Amino acid sequence: MGGSFDPIHLGHLVAASEAAHRFDLDRVVFSPTGESYHKQTDTRAPSEVRYLMTVVATAADPRFHATRVDIDRPGPTYTAETLKDLQSAFAEESGGQDAEWFFITGADALADILGWRDPDRILDSAHLVGVTRPGHVLEDPGLPQDRVSLIEIPALAISSTDIRRRVAAGAPIQYLVPSGVAHLIDKYRLYRSA
Ligand code: ATP
Ligand code: MG
Repeated sequence: MGGSFDPIHLGHLVAASEAAHRFDLDRVVFSPTGESYHKQTDTRAPSEVRYLMTVVATAADPRFHATRVDIDRPGPTYTAETLKDLQSAFAEESGGQDAEWFFITGADALADILGWRDPDRILDSAHLVGVTRPGHVLEDPGLPQDRVSLIEIPALAISSTDIRRRVAAGAPIQYLVPSGVAHLIDKYRLYRSA
């Protein structure tokens, strides 16, 4: 699952857990994006801190892992490269064991996939799982049915944008992010200015 995770929140974790359940996944790897090219906010957390929040948020679930592949690669993140790097790391670590790959993304982001670099390469290397998020109408984004699944997850109207706004406004974020993530937001004084 790729995302800016700025910060990671319970919407991400519920979506991952639901996808893991539906597709019987052994692992879900969360990959915070590197240098962001589509979001321009001066208060966003540095990649190392977004990675740290992702590690903390995934610590309690044995299926969940965080990866540095995107934050360690210079330049903007492209999903085709994320998948390639994860697949070669897995091949090395497992001695060439076979694996089935899924890329989990919000259904909103899925609709943009045709605009991503190398959509064919992405569809060749992973099954795409689009999770619905509240307020998003599930529409067929016109992708090959055998390579794409849309799943509905319990409605959670949580977004990183809303969490950042809440922090800036002094509103509570308790129960919207894991407590360890809330502690890191405090500790690094993230998102304080609007
Ligand atoms: P922002 O508000 O900054 O865009 P975000 O909450 O969308 O942040 P991202 O890091 O952009 O978080 O999201 C990573 C992926 O998780 C995206 O594919 C996004 O669509 C999906 N996602 C985010 N929030 C939810 C949610 N509450 N339920 C399901 N999927 C979500
Ligand atoms: Mg988003």
